[in-house]
Parts: sequence; C-alpha cells; structure tokens
Amino acid sequence: MTDNAQYWDRPAETLTRAGIEKLQLSLLKSCLARAGRSMFYNAKFKKIGFDPGSASSLDDVGRIPFTVKQDLRESYPYGFLCEPREQLVRMHISSGTTGQAIAVFYTKADLELWADLLARCMYMAGARPGDTFQNLSGYGLFTGGLGFQYGAERLGMLTIPSGAGNSKRQIQIMRDFSTNVIHIIPSFLLLLMDVIKEMKVDPQNDLSLRIAFVGAEPYSQEVRRRFEDFYAIKVYNSYGLSEMNGPGVAFECPCQNGLHVWEDAYLVEIIDPKSLAPVPDGQYGELVLTALRREAMPILRYRTRDLTRILPGECECGRVHKRIDRIQGRTDDMFIIKGVNVFPIQVEQVLMTIPEVGNNYVIVLKRENNVDDMVVRVEVTESVFVEDMRKLEHVRKRIARDLKSELLVTPKVELVEPNSLPKSEGKALRLIDQRVI
Ligand code: AMP
Ligand code: ZN
Repeated sequence: MTDNAQYWDRPAETLTRAGIEKLQLSLLKSCLARAGRSMFYNAKFKKIGFDPGSASSLDDVGRIPFTVKQDLRESYPYGFLCEPREQLVRMHISSGTTGQAIAVFYTKADLELWADLLARCMYMAGARPGDTFQNLSGYGLFTGGLGFQYGAERLGMLTIPSGAGNSKRQIQIMRDFSTNVIHIIPSFLLLLMDVIKEMKVDPQNDLSLRIAFVGAEPYSQEVRRRFEDFYAIKVYNSYGLSEMNGPGVAFECPCQNGLHVWEDAYLVEIIDPKSLAPVPDGQYGELVLTALRREAMPILRYRTRDLTRILPGECECGRVHKRIDRIQGRTDDMFIIKGVNVFPIQVEQVLMTIPEVGNNYVIVLKRENNVDDMVVRVEVTESVFVEDMRKLEHVRKRIARDLKSELLVTPKVELVEPNSLPKSEGKALRLIDQRVI
C-alpha cells in the first residue's frame, strides 16, 4: 500500500511525538490568546490571575482552569464566543437531555477543519471515494448528521442523508443503492437487526455493507462483535462531542484497538475526577479535551465526564496520535447499588456474551423498605422464547450468576419477550432509577 492510499492527510497522520508537541505548543498559544477574547475566559483569567500569554511549554496546560458543562450553561448562548457574530456560519446544540441546552458555534474555518477531520477518520478506517455512504444519524441540531455529511462529501462518497428512524425505509435504501458504508448509533444498529429479520432480508447477501462507523453512545466490545458477525462488516468506534465540534475527535484505525485522538487539533488529558490530578497512561479517569484550533469557541480543558484511559504503547498502524480506550460510561451514568459502583456498560458486557440474550435490555433500580434492588430486564431471542420454562429458567439463572460474578451484586433478572422493551431510534435509555433519594 502506498502512503497516498493509506493516509488522508499524510503530514498530520505521520507526525512524530516531537512534531505533535511542537505543533500543540504553538496552537495552544494562539488558542489561549483567542479564548481570552470571550466574555467567559476573559473574566475567568482575570479572576484567577492567569495571563494567557504566559504559556511557554505544554506543561503550562496544568495552570489553565478546567471548563465544565455548567460554565457553558451559565454562559448560554454567547458567553464563549471569540469571534464577532458576523463570522459565524453554523450553530448546533448538544444532545444532552437534562438542563439548559448548550449552543456551539462555527466559523467557516471551523466547518472546513471539522469536515476534514471526519474525512480523515473515515478514510483511515477504509472508506474511499466512490463508496456509497448512508448516514442514519439524526440531522438537525445533532452534530452526527451534518458533521458526517460534510466529511463524507469531502472524502468523495455518494452520501445519502437518510437520517434517524424509518427503519424499513433505511433497509430499502441500503438495498436499492448498494450502500456499503454507514454511520449509525449502536442502539439503532441493534434495532435494525430485528427489523432486518422481520423483513426477511439476508444482511450478508441482500445488502452490500462493508463498514459501519458506530458511536455517540457507549457500547461494549461484545456488541461490536455481534454487529460484525450479523452484518459481516467491520465496525469502527467514532467518538466526539458537540463542545469539541462533534464527531471526528477520536476514531478507530484498522487495528480496532483504541481510538486515535487527533492531537493536531485536540489536546488530550485524563484526570482523576475527584482529585483532578492527571492519571498515568493505562489508568482510567475522566477525559479532558482542549479544542486547539476552533475559532468561534475554543473550549479549554473541558471535563467531558466520559471515562476512558490512554492506551499505552504505539499502535501497529504507525500513527502516534494517542489512543483512548472505548468509553466506559459517563461519570454521571455510574450508579451505586449496595455499596458497589456499577456502569451500565458492565451489565451489557456480560449480557451480550450470552447467546440466548436478544438485543435489548434495561436496568431498573428500586428501593423497598430501605433495601435497594437492581432489576435487569432482558429480551431473549425468538428461539429461546418458544422453549419450555425449564430452558428459560436455566438462561435466567445463568445471567444472574454471570452478572453477580462481574458486579459482585446479585441482580433480579427478568426475561421478557423479544421486541417488548421500549425501542430507541435515538440514544438508548439503559438505566431507570426509581429509588427515591
Ligand atoms: P453530544 O453532546 O450530543 O455531542 O454528545 C456527546 C457525548 O456522547 C459524549 O460526551 C459521550 O458521552 C457520548 N459519546 C459520543 N461518542 C461516543 C462513543 N463512541 N462511545 C461512547 N460514548 C460516546
Ligand atoms: Zn492505529
């Protein structure tokens, strides 16, 4: 394979560690100068006595204050703007469902860079000009729609903005236009498995799928394996957040072993969410990101609430951009049951290794007489559901046993009919906490 075939942006993708650090320092200096023009950072820098012109090495990053979601909420809508209103050409809103929304703005240059980063991601994972790309992501305010759209057009794929929902029509479009590359959130790709079966479509022979970019919410390695087996495709994890543009921040390469964060555009740190101190590579903590090149709204040391770690060592693909592990959950997703900290993804990891488990589950937390209970409702596959009670009871016990050995808490497991749990075409709701605190 020649370099041209391997890289979308050869100079950026083949940077050395020293090259990345040199570039980051110069970007950081201009980024700090720009950030100081916003109302928020201007006031913040003054308050803590931070001189944005004083950063002279990357180690100075530690002196920059963290930014949290609440800061963005309180400064809604324009408090973080660094460019005059006339320079803005786009706005998106973070998909978070609670509290005050967060608006993010883009200049023309921001959109250019964003499209280019996404083209780089998709090219790295094997998408090529001439491919047919179907984007089954919500458009509108959600960044997964237009973000991927522009990236895919930049790459040169025939791009179908089919949007979220309309499951049957999506499959029909895939058939009619021989879609071979898709972008989709994991809960919708799971849901489509059932629709495909119902439509009696053979996913491996009637469809032409080759690659799926899957992200926007956590999913386990086991779920990835299910997708790859069912559709006979390669699934690449895609990570991003509106505050940092949207998707295109970190993406898996063909090695499928961690997501490269594009360090020529983002500064990555992992901190202990309690002490806020940096944690060593390999150790889990909260991901903190700085958008080094955004013009309209360069957010500094943003505490994403996403839990991951830096994977130590170099990737076999040769790119030295640091890799993060798949997101384990959000600090605000974690729940405590009988004194044990649990993330929904741990439950998913266990469930999805059990062949009799279908594609949907929900965790319900209850409190009765001051005792907490964790109920895991699990859809079973069609073939198990028609079996006799003994077989079902055997499956139920196995799930309870496997969950207990992973989580060290004994859950109540309820098996339910295929397709009976609420379906989601948007980000899935995996946890219902009914405990009254
Ligand atoms: P939004 O505010 O709509 O841009 O959503 C961003 C959030 O979605 C991130 O902070 C993560 O919590 C989540 N997210 C995005 N991509 C992934 C991914 N690949 N795996 C897990 N969670 C993700
Ligand atoms: Zn790699």
